[in-house]
Amino acid sequence: MQANPIQRVVIVGGGTAGWMTAALLSRAIGPRLAITLVESDEIGTVGVGEATIPQIRHVNAFLGIDEDELMRAVKGTFKLAIQFNDWRRIGDSYLHAFGDIGLPLGLVPFQHYWLRDRQERGEAAPDLWSYSINAQACAQHRFGRLDRIGSSPMTGTRYAYHLDAGLYGQYLRQRCDPRQVRRVEGKVVDVKLREDNGFIESLQLQGGERVEGDLFIDCSGFRGLLIEGALKAGYDDWTHWLPCDRAVAVPSERVAPMRPYTQASARAAGWQWRIPLQHRNGNGHVFCSRFISDDEATATLLAHLDGEALAEPRVLRFTTGARRRFWIRNCVALGLASGFMEPLESTSIHMIQSGISRLISLFPDRHCDPALSDEYNRQTRFEYERIRDFLVLHYRATERDDTAFWRHCRSIALPEGLAERIELFRRSGQVFRHGEELFTEVGWLQVMLGQGIVPQAWHPAADGLPAAELEGFLGNMRTLIQRAVATFPEHGQFVATHCRAMG
Ligand SMILES: Cc1cc2nc3c(=O)[nH]c(=O)nc-3n(C[C@H](O)[C@H](O)[C@H](O)COP(=O)(O)OP(=O)(O)OC[C@H]3O[C@@H](n4cnc5c(N)ncnc54)[C@H](O)[C@@H]3O)c2cc1C
Repeated sequence: MQANPIQRVVIVGGGTAGWMTAALLSRAIGPRLAITLVESDEIGTVGVGEATIPQIRHVNAFLGIDEDELMRAVKGTFKLAIQFNDWRRIGDSYLHAFGDIGLPLGLVPFQHYWLRDRQERGEAAPDLWSYSINAQACAQHRFGRLDRIGSSPMTGTRYAYHLDAGLYGQYLRQRCDPRQVRRVEGKVVDVKLREDNGFIESLQLQGGERVEGDLFIDCSGFRGLLIEGALKAGYDDWTHWLPCDRAVAVPSERVAPMRPYTQASARAAGWQWRIPLQHRNGNGHVFCSRFISDDEATATLLAHLDGEALAEPRVLRFTTGARRRFWIRNCVALGLASGFMEPLESTSIHMIQSGISRLISLFPDRHCDPALSDEYNRQTRFEYERIRDFLVLHYRATERDDTAFWRHCRSIALPEGLAERIELFRRSGQVFRHGEELFTEVGWLQVMLGQGIVPQAWHPAADGLPAAELEGFLGNMRTLIQRAVATFPEHGQFVATHCRAMG
C-alpha cells in the first residue's frame, strides 16, 4: 500500500488522448481516483486520426465495449491492412497486412520457405501475400471475424478499425462515470508550479477557476501546454529523418466498394491517405513544405478524391519528433503533446494507449519517484524510436527519383541500427523484432519486400524439405486461405449486417 496515494488526477485536453486517458485510468485505478478533465471548446481538437491498428481492440476488452456497438457509434469500418501505392516506384503496390503470413516449420520462419520457392519457380511462384488471409480478403473487399483457419494451426483475421475521430472521443467520454470524471469547460491560461520542488500545483482557467491536482496529464495536443510550456521538456526534431511537416485533410463522399484497408498513395512531395468510413471517406495529403506549397498540396489532394469533397480542406502543421522527456515530476504527456511521427502506419492512437498502460503499470504516489518516471521515459523513447525507424524505411528504401522530394528521401541518413537491419535482411532473409517494439517480424518483412529489398539467401533448413513436400506445404496453405475467404461476405455487407450506423 502507498503512504501518499494519488487521489486527484487532472487531464488537460479533451481529444482522443484526453478521453482515452480518463476512461482507461478511471477503470484501472478505481473509484478512489477523482479525475478532472479540462477542455476548451474554443480551441477544439485536431479532428483527424481515423485509422488504427489491431491493438485498439484491447481497449474494448478492458473497458467492456461491445465491438458492434462501438462501430455503430463511430460510423466505423474494419481495417485488415494498409495498401501502399507508388512508394517503391510509380505503378507499384504492396500491402502491410495485419496478422500472420504462412506458418513456420519448426523454428524456421515462413519467409525462408517462400524465398526458396520464389527462387526455384521464379515469376510463377505465388507472392508472399498469397499466404496472408488478410491480404486475400482485401483483394476481394471481403471481411470476416475468424480466430483460426479451419482446424489448421493458421491464425485467422487480425483487424483494426477506421473510425470517425470526433465520434470516438465522444464515445469514450460517455464511457466515463461522471461521478468519477468531472469535465470542466475552460481555457488554461496559467500553470502554477510549487516553489519547493517544481511540481505542478494547479492550473488557472480563464475566468478565474483554479484546478488543483496530485498528477497532471498533458493531453493538450501539439502545444504541449504543461510538458513544454510549463516544464520545458525539450523536443527532438526528427525532420531530417521524417521530412513531411504538413497535412491537408478533407472528407469526401464514399463510393463503392467499401475497402477493408487504408490506402496510402505516394505523391510528388508526400503521400495521400484514404480511409473509408460508413458515411464518408477521410482523406489527407501529408507533404513536405520544402518541396510543395499548401495550395499545390491541396490541389493534389482534391484531384485524387474518388468522391465529391464534403468540406473545405484544412491544413495542419507539425514537426515530426518526440519530447526529450515524456514524464517530468508530476506531469505525463500523452498523445500529440508527447510527440508526433506522422500517420503513415496509423500509430498515434496506439501510442496513447500504450502510454496509458505504461503509466498504469508504473503508477506513482504523490512523490512521483524519479525511478518510475525514468523507466517510463526509457520505454517510451524506445517505442518512439523503433516506430520512427519503421516509418523511415518507407521513405528511404524507394527507387523513385522522379521529383526533388523523392531524390531527397533516397539520401536520408539512416538512424542507427536501421542500416544493419536492412543489410541483415538483404543478405540472409532474417528479420527480428527488437525487444518489445511495436512492429513484428511480419510487418518489417512486408515493408522491406514491398519497398524492393530482396534477400540474397535464406535459412539452410528451408533447403532440407523435399521439393514435393514444399509444394504441398505451400499449396495447402493457399487453398485453406482461399476457402476461408470465400466464406466471408463483402465488407460493406458485413458492416450493414452487424453494425450499420443510424443516420
Ligand atoms: C494529419 C494527421 C493525421 C493523423 N492520422 C492518424 C491516424 O490515422 N491514426 C492515428 O492513430 N492517429 C492519427 N493522427 C494522430 C491523432 O490525430 C492524435 O493522436 C489523436 O487525435 C490525439 O490527439 P490529442 O488528443 O493528443 O490532441 P488534440 O485532438 O489536439 O486535443 C487537444 C485538446 O487539448 C485542449 N486544449 C489545448 N490547449 C488548451 C488550453 N489552453 N486549455 C484547455 N484545453 C486546451 C483542446 O481543446 C483539445 O481538447 C493524425 C494526426 C495528424 C496531425
